[in-house]
Amino acid sequence: MAVKRSLWMFGLEADEPSYEARVAAAARLSERLGVELQAPRIPPVETLQLRKPRITPPEALAGFCRQDVRDRAYHSYGYDRVDHGVWGNYPNPPDVVAHPRSDEELEAILEWADNGGFYVIPFGGGSSVVGGVTPPDDLGPVVTVSLDAMDRVLEVDATSRAARIQAGVFGPHLEEQLRPLGFTLRHFPQSFAGSTLGGWIATRAGGHYATNHTHIDDFVESLRMLTPSGWLETRRIPASGAGPDPNRLAIGSEGVLGIISEAWMRIQLRPRFRASAAVTFPTWDGGWEATRRIAQAKLWPANLRLLDPELARSSAGTGSGAALLIIGFESGELSQRSNIADALSIARDAGGVVDDAEVRVEDGSERPTGRGGTIGAWREAFIPGASGGGLGGLAGLGVVAGTFETAVTWESWPELDDRVRSATHEALQVTCGGGSLNCRFTHVYPDGPAPYYTYVGARPQGMKAAEAHGAVKRAASDAILACGGTITHHHAVGRLHRPWYDQERPALFARVLRAAKSTLDPGGILNPGVLIDP
Ligand SMILES: Cc1cc2nc3c(=O)[nH]c(=O)nc-3n(C[C@H](O)[C@H](O)[C@H](O)COP(=O)(O)OP(=O)(O)OC[C@H]3O[C@@H](n4cnc5c(N)ncnc54)[C@H](O)[C@@H]3O)c2cc1C
Repeated sequence: MAVKRSLWMFGLEADEPSYEARVAAAARLSERLGVELQAPRIPPVETLQLRKPRITPPEALAGFCRQDVRDRAYHSYGYDRVDHGVWGNYPNPPDVVAHPRSDEELEAILEWADNGGFYVIPFGGGSSVVGGVTPPDDLGPVVTVSLDAMDRVLEVDATSRAARIQAGVFGPHLEEQLRPLGFTLRHFPQSFAGSTLGGWIATRAGGHYATNHTHIDDFVESLRMLTPSGWLETRRIPASGAGPDPNRLAIGSEGVLGIISEAWMRIQLRPRFRASAAVTFPTWDGGWEATRRIAQAKLWPANLRLLDPELARSSAGTGSGAALLIIGFESGELSQRSNIADALSIARDAGGVVDDAEVRVEDGSERPTGRGGTIGAWREAFIPGASGGGLGGLAGLGVVAGTFETAVTWESWPELDDRVRSATHEALQVTCGGGSLNCRFTHVYPDGPAPYYTYVGARPQGMKAAEAHGAVKRAASDAILACGGTITHHHAVGRLHRPWYDQERPALFARVLRAAKSTLDPGGILNPGVLIDP
């Protein structure tokens, strides 16, 4: 599929807002933030000047390697591309971008890079928000290996409900291949349209399930990963007690141990039974108390999103001061009528207000619920959030807009929320002269929530975007770690989260990880700077 992805925002070139739309957005934001913002013109690709490639692939590999300006510029960044792309800033592009079409071509490119001592960066959809695919400065030649030509569902075992799938497939193309067979992987991260199966596995992505089956980890039955030391291939089994799980070495390895080429994934019937409801709470605390009780009742709703009053107002139009809990159940086989009734009874008990018009139950229909009312309003704000309509559309306007996320036990949550909010507000005040912050729970566990924060401020004249983001990010991340949270629930470690991941990870585990890296990647060529230093 020859789609052109944008060089400066998350999404397709075809969906980029026009210059005029960006000027209008800058004007609106200027008014909202009380500062003067402008939309720069984005340099066309023909005008980009990139460093000359330092290496050339041999004839035998040339058929699937590219060195043109656009491909190298595109593979210079993950989603950290935004402001760089706006300014045409590509100081450190990969020298070669390989698009292997088979395991044999994958082996050939890795062997060439390993023999030459060139660095290799595995690349899926490039939606990493943590610098996971960005070549670091001061490196020797870099070969970025994009899996985009390995994008097929190879086999389906309908009896066991599993499918063998190539790693480079993007979310929509994967679902297109499973749909005619009545199946779905049903893993929908917000970046679904612009990320791949291999990227999800390599980063332990979190999908749309708010409880229970959340991380991609739960869906991996077995996988194949090519390392400089050979293939690591695991056995297809539903579960095993045979020692540490070898899948777990590859899941979350962020391209530092090998390149995942395919996986057997657990698939499911497409849902036909659904039930959903929106519940408002007079206070934020009341909302998270209800959420905790529903999660601990083990009802396992597919959706259990709690929005703080600020976000509920801006994205779902609820009255001022009310937190909003969106509850959704789904199944391919069973009515969800009694599950939603049980969840609503818990929510009411905790002080929730339920409008009967906001409760929808569909028994055996193909049509999904939640398309109207408050949930519909929230969906319409949430889904474009992953494209140019979201933070990406603000790129280059001089706005400091970003997100961070964590997970923490219920016991530590209230303190974490307090400290993260005050540290982030203080950093926004010092850096931007003020700004806004909101929070939602993207995922919820019986022992704690996964809160997700979004901040917006105006960048002072003369300050670089990375500097402004860095100040906010540092304050928030320090507070998260100090209160017992993790540096990331699903955005991965990459390069951005290294300082906090290094504190969070047990020192002895770091040695074990280093030992694994030196066994699988003795030359230390794979994704340097990510996750661990060789
Ligand atoms: C708007 C937006 C919304 C997002 N929402 C979510 C969300 O809801 N949930 C979530 O979990 N994340 C989310 N993310 C983060 C990101 O989409 C995930 O980390 C995703 O899993 C990355 O997949 P990718 O295919 O784009 O991988 P890439 O960004 O290309 O790579 C990510 C990392 O994985 C490695 N890698 C990629 N493919 C392979 C492979 N085949 N073998 C070995 N290593 C590989 C890379 O080297 C890199 O370290 C979001 C990002 C954006 C921009």
